[in-house]
Amino acid sequence: MKKYDVVVIGAGPGGYLSAIRCAQLGFSTACVDGELSANGKPTLGGVCLNKGCIPSKALLDSSHHYAFIKNQAAEHGINVSGIRLDIHKMISRKERLVQKLTRGIAGLFKKNGVEWLQGQGQLLEGNQVQVTPDGKHPPDTYQVSAKHIIIATGSAPTKLPVAAIDQNRIVDSTGALAFTEVPKRLGIIGAGVIGLELGSVWSRMGAEVVILEALDEFLAPVDRDIAVAAAKLFEKQGLDIQLGARVTGTGLNNHEVSVAYEQAGEKQKLAFDKLVVAVGRSPNVAGLGAEAVGLALSRRGAIEVDNYCATNLPDVYAIGDVVRGPMLAHKAAEEGIMVAERLAGQDRALNLELVPWVIYTWPEIAWVGKTETELQAAGAKYKTGLFPMAASGRAQAAGDTDGMMKMISAADTDQLLGVHILAPNASELVAEAVLAMEFDGSAEDIARTIHAHPTLSEAMHEAALATDQRALHI
Ligand code: FAD
Ligand code: NAD
Repeated sequence: MKKYDVVVIGAGPGGYLSAIRCAQLGFSTACVDGELSANGKPTLGGVCLNKGCIPSKALLDSSHHYAFIKNQAAEHGINVSGIRLDIHKMISRKERLVQKLTRGIAGLFKKNGVEWLQGQGQLLEGNQVQVTPDGKHPPDTYQVSAKHIIIATGSAPTKLPVAAIDQNRIVDSTGALAFTEVPKRLGIIGAGVIGLELGSVWSRMGAEVVILEALDEFLAPVDRDIAVAAAKLFEKQGLDIQLGARVTGTGLNNHEVSVAYEQAGEKQKLAFDKLVVAVGRSPNVAGLGAEAVGLALSRRGAIEVDNYCATNLPDVYAIGDVVRGPMLAHKAAEEGIMVAERLAGQDRALNLELVPWVIYTWPEIAWVGKTETELQAAGAKYKTGLFPMAASGRAQAAGDTDGMMKMISAADTDQLLGVHILAPNASELVAEAVLAMEFDGSAEDIARTIHAHPTLSEAMHEAALATDQRALHI
């Protein structure tokens, strides 16, 4: 039986980066992964590269260019005629990008000396892992042993019994990233991150999109000022978001999928060409053998870990979507790197309070830290600064003036508590706030930092000034 210092199970952004970092630190490292690409070939990169972050951003960018040419180019004096959408080309561009990036990970594994053990991994007693290569029969399974095991098996779409996925009429996010034509009527269950991002993609390309959300509140985890403003913008863009809509059943025929739901006590029914189910994701523990080895799971099926991602079993760690905390690629990656560095004796920790969130609509939504609602619930004393993007010279030059920058700092110390952004490129702008908060910065620190002109980041500067009622451009 082959022995390694570290065996990582799962090669998503948590697992592959953890494996690379372990190898960099001198550990003999193998990474077991059973993911197959759409054409059935073994692939690395997990959900993020194969059917998550990267393909969704490719389609978001492509559809954003299309929407810009259709709706905004003329305002810039650019008259374009004969615009034609080539959906096949758009989808194959996305697929080429996925191939390029996933092959890149195979290259990084080779360069760093990480051994890729293709197949499903199962935990066995005594720090052993059984590997079953895909498409092979049990005689081909083999065992490896490791001083340390890092579980990074990620998550899968949460199932909704009343809307079973057939990947034809009723699809999950993977299916919705691969439509070969624009559905005329697209229904989405769940107005969360995936519902809004994929709803935006297909709505920009001409689909009539209705999103059915069970909660009465839109984007409950998001700061209210941002969520309310975003809801208005998304409605204007053509997303029909129905709140308080509880789906009770679906029906299929050759032409359409019907959806029955209840809203404010009334029974409602709608028909769509395609229906996307996007009601959250659940940790991937099936087939891992958790129960047999006594690995502790939480009530929602996540692997229980402490602040350093240690499980209840000695020398077994778990990171990323399969454990508590936000299901985000950068959180998974940082946990994986932290575990590798701690195995090497480094003093590493991670502050999960400062994980930035981004929703890649347009404008984008991004935030870090606490919302006003959370601070009020905690009885905290705070002050806020708000700056509308319409007052930004750079936003006006771009013709993209929707949104706002909102900063919250402690009433007494001025320490930054939360930064909430609805703006073009909010995904990039939020990095300044994360860094400032990582260093326990204050609004005054941002107010005294020189921001290049003209940039959207000046809105961050103005929001910081606004916490002290001294914004200059409003
Ligand atoms: P995963 O990426 O889920 O990888 C786990 C890997 O383990 C997979 O390859 C799986 O096949 C493999 N595996 C599972 N069980 C076993 C086993 N027993 N043996 C061997 N291998 C196994 N996050 C962001 O931060 N930004 C985004 O823009 C973003 N966009 C997204 C868009 C969509 C449509 C979706 C669905 C998700 C998106 N996410 C995004 C979330 C992000 O993809 C996840 O948070 C991230 O991939 C989690 O990484 P991970 O390493 O924990 O697991
Ligand atoms: P989500 O948790 O963001 O949203 C799910 C939504 O569905 C919620 O608003 C919830 O109230 C609603 N819902 C749940 N059950 C419902 C039901 N029966 N009927 C109607 N609505 C219902 O989940 P998601 O959009 O599926 O995304 C899953 C996760 O993937 C995200 O939470 C995030 O962690 C990750 N992700 C991140 C990004 C990003 O970082 N930009 C993009 C996509 C996905």
